[in-house]
Amino acid sequence: MNWMEDELEAMDRASILRSMRASSPVPERPGYTIRGNRPLLNLSSNDYLGLSQHPAIIAVMQEALLTEGCGSGASRLVTGNRAVYERLEEALSEWQNSEAALVFANGYMANTGVISAIAGRGDVVFSDQLNHASIVDGIQMSRAEHARYRHNDMAHLRKLLSKFRDRRRKLIVTDAVFSMDGDLAPLQELVLLKEEYGAILMVDEAHSGGIYGEKGKGLCHALGLQDEVDIHVGTFSKAFGLYGAYVCGNRTLIRWLTNKARPLIYSTALPPSLVAGISKALDMLQSENWRREQLHEANKLFRASLHAAGFAVGGSSSPIVPIIVGENDKAVRFSAALEEKGIAAVAIRPPTVLEGTARIRFSLTAAHTKKELIDAAVCIRNVGIRLGDLRQ
Ligand SMILES: *Cc1c(COP(=O)(O)O)cnc(C)c1O
Repeated sequence: MNWMEDELEAMDRASILRSMRASSPVPERPGYTIRGNRPLLNLSSNDYLGLSQHPAIIAVMQEALLTEGCGSGASRLVTGNRAVYERLEEALSEWQNSEAALVFANGYMANTGVISAIAGRGDVVFSDQLNHASIVDGIQMSRAEHARYRHNDMAHLRKLLSKFRDRRRKLIVTDAVFSMDGDLAPLQELVLLKEEYGAILMVDEAHSGGIYGEKGKGLCHALGLQDEVDIHVGTFSKAFGLYGAYVCGNRTLIRWLTNKARPLIYSTALPPSLVAGISKALDMLQSENWRREQLHEANKLFRASLHAAGFAVGGSSSPIVPIIVGENDKAVRFSAALEEKGIAAVAIRPPTVLEGTARIRFSLTAAHTKKELIDAAVCIRNVGIRLGDLRQ
């Protein structure tokens, strides 16, 4: 397997080699992470609402462990379908105002499962160029034609819809908030196009579920488009602070997925204690509006501070704030220098993002204080200048 060594070395030279670092939580300080024995301000977590360490959720999970045991023992279609699952799905349908809901093991499996259950050979999936990798993999799994449109470019999407208008099934898929750029999809225009061309529209709310709209219902709801979007996907791994994913839609869709989504059918049900914890997180996420408010305040403050420091961060309302530096090694050096100053902010490089657009991707949580964010912005500015001015 020498070729592996050779390729890994080449990747290292190109500053795109990845490795895992040990990180552990800091008790009582949800906005921090310990790396290399030091607590760092964690600006690289998706725990947007600061729920991942919440004692009330931990208590529910402990209780469920005692009554339900550790593992579910089988796929949900065999004997793994505990009552906690059904209760969660009912609560999810109510929250999303949909006829039905289905829990998946994670967002990756929800996206691959839904896309491959809906599209097949001879069909076409229209997908934004910057959609999450799980959507790309779902299209590959489906064997449908992959019609990739330029990022948020509705004129390009229209051209492709027109080109493939005679295909049997047409599915349009988009992230609601793009995970590495933090900008939003033009959902209103996507709805108009899907209606005009008779396509199905699927929206991945991984970074917007829990964050936008009344009770955190997501971006589709915030824009009043919930009934126009056919398939809502979201994860419990981000704003919920846990693990798992959901799909919401009409009863027919959920029955179809129960019969056709292979990642659901051929995989063991999530541990019941986790499912119970998700239900608790869903309650809290709906009732504790202050977490969302705090997150949106943090986002405004952090973007304004970086903007004042000379960085071209866009005006998006999402808690994902990238600073694009271009070259891979520059991004790696930027990240290392920030770590020295007590900030965990990971360098994102190809193939996660397009070649030449390596970046530091900051993500905020409701747990960060104003002072922490202002201090962080000053520190980012100083490091940026020291590295040969990364400001634009
Ligand atoms: C994180 C993410 C996923 C994957 O979700 P997991 O639950 O972590 O597997 C899917 N789509 C988008 C847009 C994401 O950001």
